[in-house]
Amino acid sequence: MAKLYFFYGAMNSGKTTRILQCQFNYEESGMRAVIMKPSTDTKGNDKIVSRIGATKKVDYLIKKTDNVFDLIVEEYGHVDLILVDEAQFLTTRQVNQLMDIVVDLDIPVMCYGLRTDFKGNSFPGARRLLDIAHELTEIKTICSCGKKAMFNVRLINGKVQTEGESVAIDGEGEVSYTVACAKCFKMKTQKKFDHPEITYE
Ligand SMILES: [Zn+2]
Repeated sequence: MAKLYFFYGAMNSGKTTRILQCQFNYEESGMRAVIMKPSTDTKGNDKIVSRIGATKKVDYLIKKTDNVFDLIVEEYGHVDLILVDEAQFLTTRQVNQLMDIVVDLDIPVMCYGLRTDFKGNSFPGARRLLDIAHELTEIKTICSCGKKAMFNVRLINGKVQTEGESVAIDGEGEVSYTVACAKCFKMKTQKKFDHPEITYE
């Protein structure tokens, strides 16, 4: 029986490198693994870009209005595995559609993404995956203090940001990110976790 998997971690935890390795392994065994990416992630346009420099053109660049079940049904019988990069940017409905692919078409789906944005709030796609995925796996990465990094800190021109839109793509404009454990996140953002700006839509 196929399953829906969610591999989540902070930024720079090597998620894209794992996707490329996984696709390589499948194709070496004569099977077809397709890669999807929400178009919200404009980094690399229609390619996924790993930190170690490897890139690959995606098979499907997913718009917010796309029905991913319909896309895959057309190719039914020719897909053995679906890999999704930046899965936090999927809509709630698209995650539900991935679950329909798993259950109705018996194709495993492996989603990779961030759990939370730079304010520590969950992304809709990640939240739905945490709700319904068969298997959840945390990909660990390390804070500069040596503890496990759980949070993403947004920097503009190197300055820590605590305000702004949920999505700002790494490397665009002067935006960059660093990762932090809970204690360092609090220190860098100088905010309590319980503050009134935290909203859950
Ligand atoms: Zn730390």
